[in-house]
Amino acid sequence: MEINKNAMMIYKNIIFVFLFSFILIFPATVFSQTNQNDIPDWVRNTAYWWSQGDISDSEYKNAMKFLIENGIISISSQNQNIVDMGDFYTTYDEPNDPYYDEIMFWAMDNEELMVNLSGINAIKLPHDVEIKFMQCNEANAFYSSEERQIQLCYEFIDMMRNIQSEYYDSEEEIRHAVQDSIYETILHELGHGLVDMYNIPITGKEEDAVDQLSTIILLQEGQQGIDALYAVANWYDYFGQQITGIEQLPFHDEHSFEMQRFYSILCFVYGSDPERNYELIDFVPLETEQEIQRWSWLCVEEHEKISNSWNTFLDPLWN
Ligand SMILES: [Zn+2]
Repeated sequence: MEINKNAMMIYKNIIFVFLFSFILIFPATVFSQTNQNDIPDWVRNTAYWWSQGDISDSEYKNAMKFLIENGIISISSQNQNIVDMGDFYTTYDEPNDPYYDEIMFWAMDNEELMVNLSGINAIKLPHDVEIKFMQCNEANAFYSSEERQIQLCYEFIDMMRNIQSEYYDSEEEIRHAVQDSIYETILHELGHGLVDMYNIPITGKEEDAVDQLSTIILLQEGQQGIDALYAVANWYDYFGQQITGIEQLPFHDEHSFEMQRFYSILCFVYGSDPERNYELIDFVPLETEQEIQRWSWLCVEEHEKISNSWNTFLDPLWN
């Protein structure tokens, strides 16, 4: 009788230590399921031995890891509970000016590489978001919170075809560069959308922040993403070269200057993998070895800091 009573007390002690220790180790997690019947004896023993100081913290943590990895205890953080309630989808407005008919059909034919719907729909959305190709009477792209739309103007595609034809010779290369530039633009507008839909805090220019987001996503797509970023760099270089005097710089604009956006892309691509992209240093006006070292160090630091920051927000949003 006495022995059974002791056994019961030890058992209760183990359960208490076990549950209490979870609260200590995982303060930010929520248990959605706990089935103590499924907890193996060796884990119970581990909890007891840990409470007695007979095994180390790391051995105890390994036992906890086993429970989580084998689904005996499932945990979920608040962010992982974000439910995907919507998708991006495309529509094409009939242009008023028949000049843009051909561009509309071109956009339809090139949609897969230009929008990458299956890729961007891996992001959880609180509602559907329309990607609307349309005539806007300006060469631009927008995110509209009220209309739940990304608007991409036919004029913008037309402009991009003209710009990229200055940098590439073959039709094939131009087509790729235009597709890539539009894809980056959609990622940029998608960034504005995420900031709006999830109230992501931005401390600085939102335009710079979403430029960084599109760059980070493209860098995760390997060489194809880097090629896309070079196409975008051409676009900034093209407009940057039109500026011939300081009085032409748009100081009032919400965007950074075109050449700043150009060098930001170079810095990010370089910073993501300095050994692979070391040739980019040649495009930056750096004179001394000291300047090169400083730029190089800053770009690596900047890339790491900003991609970590964005990934903190993005990780829970991927399906
Ligand atoms: Zn923008």
